[in-house]
Parts: sequence; C-alpha cells; structure tokens
Amino acid sequence: MSQQLPTLEEIRRAPKVLLHDHLDGGLRPGTIVDLARETGYDGLPTTDPGALRTWFREASDSGSLERYLETFDHTVGVMQTREALVRVAAECAEDLAADGVVYAEVRYAPEQHTERGLSLEEVIEAVLEGFRIGSEGRGIKVGTLLTAMRHQARSMEIAELAVRYRDVGVAGFDIAGAEAGYPPTRHLDAFEYLQRENAHFTIHAGEAFGLPSIWQAIQWCGADRLGHGVRIIDDIAVSGDGEPKLGRLAAYVRDKRIPLEMCPTSNLQTGAAASIAEHPIGLLRRLSFRVTVNTDNRLMSGTTVSEEFAKLVEAFGYDWDDLQWFTVNAMKSAFLPFDDRLALINGVIKPGFARLKWQA
Ligand SMILES: [Zn+2]
Repeated sequence: MSQQLPTLEEIRRAPKVLLHDHLDGGLRPGTIVDLARETGYDGLPTTDPGALRTWFREASDSGSLERYLETFDHTVGVMQTREALVRVAAECAEDLAADGVVYAEVRYAPEQHTERGLSLEEVIEAVLEGFRIGSEGRGIKVGTLLTAMRHQARSMEIAELAVRYRDVGVAGFDIAGAEAGYPPTRHLDAFEYLQRENAHFTIHAGEAFGLPSIWQAIQWCGADRLGHGVRIIDDIAVSGDGEPKLGRLAAYVRDKRIPLEMCPTSNLQTGAAASIAEHPIGLLRRLSFRVTVNTDNRLMSGTTVSEEFAKLVEAFGYDWDDLQWFTVNAMKSAFLPFDDRLALINGVIKPGFARLKWQA
C-alpha cells in the first residue's frame, strides 16, 4: 500500500455523511436565476449564473456580515412557492449524491418560506417531497432538520412540527441565527418539550460566541449535538510543552461524546478561524472529540463535503483512516434509529472505505 494521501477525486467516491447543511445555502446558481424569473423576484445582483456564483462567493468572503446575510435574502427570496421548494430540495439531494454523500441531514427554517402565503405545513411537505424525488435511486438517504430562528419567537411551534413530522422524514430540530444577544435558553420551553417527546435536536452554538453559548446549549437546553462548537477550544489550554489541558466543559463534551458539527470553510468566512491549518479541528481530532466534517452553506462557501475533506487532507495530512473516522463519527451521531445507523456503517461506509484503501 502506498503512502499517497487521498485525492479529491478519490474522496468523491468515498461514502460520506453530512449532518450540517442549510437548504437555503446550497442552491445551484442557475436554479436561482430560473426561480427568480418564474416567481417574479427582481432583487438578484445579476442574472448570469456564472457571475452569480462568483458574486455569492465574494459576498461571503468579504468579511462583511451585511453582505454575507444579503446572500440569504436572495436564496430565501426565490424559495417562496411549493414548486421552488420541491425543486431546490430535489436538486440538493442530487448534488449531495453526486458528491458521494450516502446520508445527509439538511436543515432550513420553515418560517422563512411563508412570505407568499404557504403555511408551515405546506413548506415542510414540499421540502419532504423534493428530497423524496431527488434521492430516489441515487443511493442517498436525506433527513431534514427544522430550524427555528433564535431572534424570533416561534421555536415552540417549529418544535411541535418537528415532532409531528418525525416519522415521515423530519429527523430533528435546530436553532440558528445571531448568537450574541440571543442565548439558546431563550427557547427553553421548546427544548424541554422536545426532551419530553424523546425528540432529537442540535443547537448552533460556539461559532462566533464563546463558551457560555456552548454551556447553555448542553447543560440548560440538553442539545444532542453542537452546530459548529469550535469555541470549545477556549476551554483547552495548551501549555509550553504542548500538553493540552481540558477545562471542565471541554472534558464534559469529550467524555459524553457530544458531536461537534464542524464546518471549516464556513468558519474561515465568518472569522471563527484564520486558516484551515489553524482551525481547531486539528487539535480536537487529535484529542478524539466526536468531530464531524460539514459544509454549512455549499453555495456561499463554494464547497462540498469532498472538498472540505480534501482541504483537511492538505492541511493536516489526514489519510483514509482519518476520513473514515470522521465519517463513522458522523453516522454514529445522526438522528436516525440505531439499527439504521449500524446498517450504514457496516454495510456501506466501512466496505466503501475498505475498497478505496485497497486501491490506494
Ligand atoms: Zn449552520
């Protein structure tokens, strides 16, 4: 067996798992242009798909939060009809399958798609229909996470919908949006309700904001997973001799195997990390936290799961065993019944990686 590191082409063929991906952050530029025309949305900066792709990338790289948020005005702006939601979800499943993803949980906030009169239920059913169409025959299974916006007051309503639709494709619940000023405890009633219903949820925490946000998400709200969670690094002291010392919260997160949904490229764009090589994922993987690798917003970050892996291989020299470890971590952390997770790990992921390792 050679010492060659996995290439992007090889990584694309590996069976991968994605837990943190936003539906409104992964549209094809050409689809945005089509949907804007069909639905009469006239706010796009350009109607040329190639130029639009570049615009999204640059606006997200600009370091300006206003410009970054404007990108979502456009994607959400064209996702206000049933047909648009079905198409975007179907294409999302197709694109993920083409990248070699075998299991994905894709999230979105239903309340952001009701501007033209759709009910929350109609939004949810349209997205489920799209995923059904897009996954069929492509060797991928897609679950959805319903997101509530932290600055809004609809989390209880969205949590109830996550429970109502849990047997037909909704895998769990999430909250997203600006962390500063909107602590997760603001939505405590929704989290307590989900716990009483034995339902699963993740919370965006520790992305821009620090340890208090992570602590609240886990110890007050009972989150199963952490969206990003990169700031857990603030509770790990690396002394002069290079020996890391974990604080109580970091130790708890590692001991309890709480999954971290890490999104390296997205973190560079929002300033949560300076470069891939300096991203906390390197240390956290070394310390065997339950790290998973994700895309966040494929369009804004111009990325795929395979490309995230390839960047990590380049920065840290990860080999097939490392990539399989991240993948099995993600599958273990999925909001899917235990026997389904096991079947994917033993029947798809391990044999898929074994083939690639053998060929390398
Ligand atoms: Zn996110």
